[in-house]
Amino acid sequence: MKQKIPFLVVSDCDGNLFELPPYLMTGMSLMTPLVPGPSDIIELPFGSNLYMLSGRYPIGFDPRTKLFTEITEYEGNPLYAASAFMAPAYMQLLRSAYGTYPKAPRLPFYSYSALGWMRGKFYVSGIRVDDDERQDLCHVDLGLIQKKAQESVKKFKTNRLVRHLVDNCVCKYGCPAARNFVLGRWEAPLPTSPSCNSGCIGCISKQPETSGVVSSQNRITFVPTPEEVIEIAVYHLTHAPRPVVSFGQGCEGEPLMCGELLEESIKAIRKQTDRGIINLNTNGSKPEIVKRLCEAGLDSIRVSLNSARHTLYDKYYKPRNYSFFDCIESLRIIRRFKRWSSVNYFIFPGITDSRMEIDGLSSLIKDVHINMIQTRNLNMDPEWYINELGYNLNNTECCGLTAWLTRIRTDFPWIKIGYFNPPREEMKQKHYEFSSL
Ligand code: SF4
Repeated sequence: MKQKIPFLVVSDCDGNLFELPPYLMTGMSLMTPLVPGPSDIIELPFGSNLYMLSGRYPIGFDPRTKLFTEITEYEGNPLYAASAFMAPAYMQLLRSAYGTYPKAPRLPFYSYSALGWMRGKFYVSGIRVDDDERQDLCHVDLGLIQKKAQESVKKFKTNRLVRHLVDNCVCKYGCPAARNFVLGRWEAPLPTSPSCNSGCIGCISKQPETSGVVSSQNRITFVPTPEEVIEIAVYHLTHAPRPVVSFGQGCEGEPLMCGELLEESIKAIRKQTDRGIINLNTNGSKPEIVKRLCEAGLDSIRVSLNSARHTLYDKYYKPRNYSFFDCIESLRIIRRFKRWSSVNYFIFPGITDSRMEIDGLSSLIKDVHINMIQTRNLNMDPEWYINELGYNLNNTECCGLTAWLTRIRTDFPWIKIGYFNPPREEMKQKHYEFSSL
């Protein structure tokens, strides 16, 4: 009979990954192990990374006993759990199933998707949610990127923001958006703010030493001038195909902390070109500034939320001098201006698809009428996240993330579920209920 469920993939202590029959691939929803159904698995997307999870032992389903089993050793040697960090545009359906040894280190800032092996190929529990290929690795030519990066530095000789994008974002972090800027295509980043008014536990640009996890990118160390921002933005918007320029990047704090700079820049950009989309990725904490940016010509906004419930939001974002309700008000304002509103919504199997979270998200959508949900696999140690939220582990009433997708699409048919800030061309598609463009 043809095998339908992959075997579990595990790691030895040197990071060598291998399948472990007869154990079947096993994922986790909250803290409950599950075998993914055939429709919940896909071949490992090109551009994904594989990891050994140090300090964690795998949990696999044993078809002989029909039990989930903790597997701590193999042929007398210790075994470790393995997982995949999926390429952009894919949504995790189940996280890797493992148990944690005492004193295990926190896992670094990646998402950890369940991983299996079948008929000579790796499989993950995930689904592609965006057809846009802007960050697909097949479009990445590292040699060309280096050449174009140096050309950008020469072209914009005195622009410190270009220097930052090339020296840090392209050369150190391999940022897909910065790579696309130097290649002159699609979405380009406009980082501006060294500071932030949130204290996200999973912040990738700033971590206290006590967290035990290093931030994967450092924040920009200066506030660029309006001229530096305008020069990059106008060039990109007038030359790139399907152009988007976005404030709010992984290498900065919160762009609304630089509201006046953004306002002045947007006004000047729109005096020079009406092409493309000016977008703001933000925590949405300052609705009065969002209003001024809309008046200046902002086209779209993406507000990040780990949860549609303020209680869980507060525990993750630790907001300073603003509240969850300010973020919702920012989304309302952008809709009042009939611009495009997205939520950057963190996906965590067992929490996102829980009844209470679906109720919270449904209320938010009905209230604000957002255009899009951009799904983001939560990039942090899952158990650290659960503990910080103080999440009730008995709350296991959830429908599964495939059913969650179906439900959101059915209940709110105008909503685009995807991964990237859309270009203007995509916003015009009729079912996106977007009347201002
Ligand atoms: S809002 Fe962004 S920059 Fe600010 S703490 Fe959170 S993740 Fe970090």
